[in-house]
Amino acid sequence: MESSDYQKLAARTLTDKPGFEVSDKDIMTIWNALGLAGEAGEVSESVKKGIFHQHGLEEEKLKKEIGDVLWYAAALCTTLGFDMGEIMQMNIDKLKIRYPEGFSVIDSQKRVDKTERPT
Ligand SMILES: [Mg+2]
Repeated sequence: MESSDYQKLAARTLTDKPGFEVSDKDIMTIWNALGLAGEAGEVSESVKKGIFHQHGLEEEKLKKEIGDVLWYAAALCTTLGFDMGEIMQMNIDKLKIRYPEGFSVIDSQKRVDKTERPT
């Protein structure tokens, strides 16, 4: 699935928040940011229990929770007028600068994308 298709389809359910209008950008931004953090917490909790509590990783549950994270990320992008594909590309561009040969601890510590500022 293309990111733009996903963002459009996710936005289909970005309505009908009880008591708020979608056009209230600040409320929707906060709502989606909190939702994103909450769903990321659900992923973390599932992994924590799966590994540290030795329940085993529940792949289907993890897939659904990761999907919930994606939905809120898409919703936040839509609310803020961001193109999700552009955000994805920006992230990859940053990682290419930070880790030109793939991940390394040394590059992680250097974080050249943080120290090289355009003039
Ligand atoms: Mg969830």
